[in-house]
Amino acid sequence: MTVPADRIERLHELAREAARDGDTGLARRYVRRARRVAERNRLPLPDRFKRFSCDACDAYLVPGRTARVRTRSGHVVVTCDCGEHARYPY
Ligand SMILES: [Zn+2]
Repeated sequence: MTVPADRIERLHELAREAARDGDTGLARRYVRRARRVAERNRLPLPDRFKRFSCDACDAYLVPGRTARVRTRSGHVVVTCDCGEHARYPY
């Protein structure tokens, strides 16, 4: 019996692998599944997971492939293929 946090971690890895293989549809399904596990168990999504998934379309973001990353005065701006931006301080 795996704990939900481990399952989220595993789904994150699977999403990353699928995205690297170019299977964005499969990667998105893993991202959605991980979000559902988090919601059902009232767990916050790990920061790493949030950074690499799009809030708008659930895509797994691979910098240089499915996302553009720019740094701008104190934060990183990640732009998904769907046009959604996310900003993180660094
Ligand atoms: Zn998106």
